[in-house]
Amino acid sequence: MRIPLVAGNWKMNTTVAEAEELVCDMLDMLDRIKGVEKVLCPPFVSLVAINMMLRGSSIKLGAQNMWLETKGAYTGEISPVMLRELCEFVILGHSERRWYFGETDEMVNKKVNAALNHGLKPILCVGERLEENEAGRTEEVIGKQVTAALNGIKPTVLSVAKNLVIAYEPVWAIGTHRAASGEQAAATIKFIRDILAKLWNKDIAQDLRILYGGSVTSNNIAEFISQPEIDGALVGGASLEAEEFLSIVNQTAEIKYPHLSSPLKGEDR
Ligand code: PEP
Repeated sequence: MRIPLVAGNWKMNTTVAEAEELVCDMLDMLDRIKGVEKVLCPPFVSLVAINMMLRGSSIKLGAQNMWLETKGAYTGEISPVMLRELCEFVILGHSERRWYFGETDEMVNKKVNAALNHGLKPILCVGERLEENEAGRTEEVIGKQVTAALNGIKPTVLSVAKNLVIAYEPVWAIGTHRAASGEQAAATIKFIRDILAKLWNKDIAQDLRILYGGSVTSNNIAEFISQPEIDGALVGGASLEAEEFLSIVNQTAEIKYPHLSSPLKGEDR
C-alpha cells in the first residue's frame, strides 16, 4: 500500500521568525496525525531552524529547489550535499521554476538524478499549461515531461518507488483558486502510472506515490484524496495557515484510513 503524503510548499513566504511561528502553531497536532507522511518545505534560509524544531517529530523537511552540482562556482545556488544534512525531500521541476526561471526538462532530469544519487527524495512536479489543456494536449505534455525528467534513471539501483514522488500540478490550477476536478486529476495520474509501467515496470508504477497539486484547500482535499489513484497533495497557499494545513492532512488520514474514527488517536499505524 502507498503511504499518503502531504507536502506544504511555502514558496517565497515567511521570514525565519515567521516560519518558526508557523511550525509552532501546527507542530503538536501535525505530529500526532498518523498514517500520512507530512513534509514542510520552507524557504532555504529557514531550513536550519526548522530542522531543529522538527527533530524527534514525525514531520519531515523538504527544500523547494536545488542545483545539480555538488559544489563549486555557482554563486547563489544550493547543492544536494548541503541539503541532505538538513532535508529528506526536495521539490524539483516546479512550474514556477520552469516558467519564471527557465528550467528545462534536461535540467530537471539532471537535478532528479543528482538528488537521488545524493540520498534526497525528489518531489518531481509536472503539469500542463492552460492553452495546452484546452488544446487537448495534456497527455502529450505530461508524457514528455515525465519521460524527460526520468531519462536514464535506473530503478533497480536507486529503488525509485521508495525515493521518488511525482506531483501532477496543472499550471493553470496553481495559485489560481481553480483546482482540477478529482476525476480529471486521477485520470492524468493514472496516465503517469502507465508511463512508469512502460518506462520501468508495473510494480514500480503501482508503488510510486503520485500527488495532486493546484489550489488544494481544506474544502476540496476530500475530492482528490477519495480518488484511489491520488496518494496525497502538494499544497501551496493553504499550507501557510496552520489550521488549513492541519485540516488537509487530517482529512487525508481520515479518508485513506476510514476504519479509524480519528486519525489523531490512531496509534496502530
Ligand atoms: C504549489 O505551489 O505547488 C501549489 C500547488 O500552489 P497552490 O496550492 O497555492 O495552488
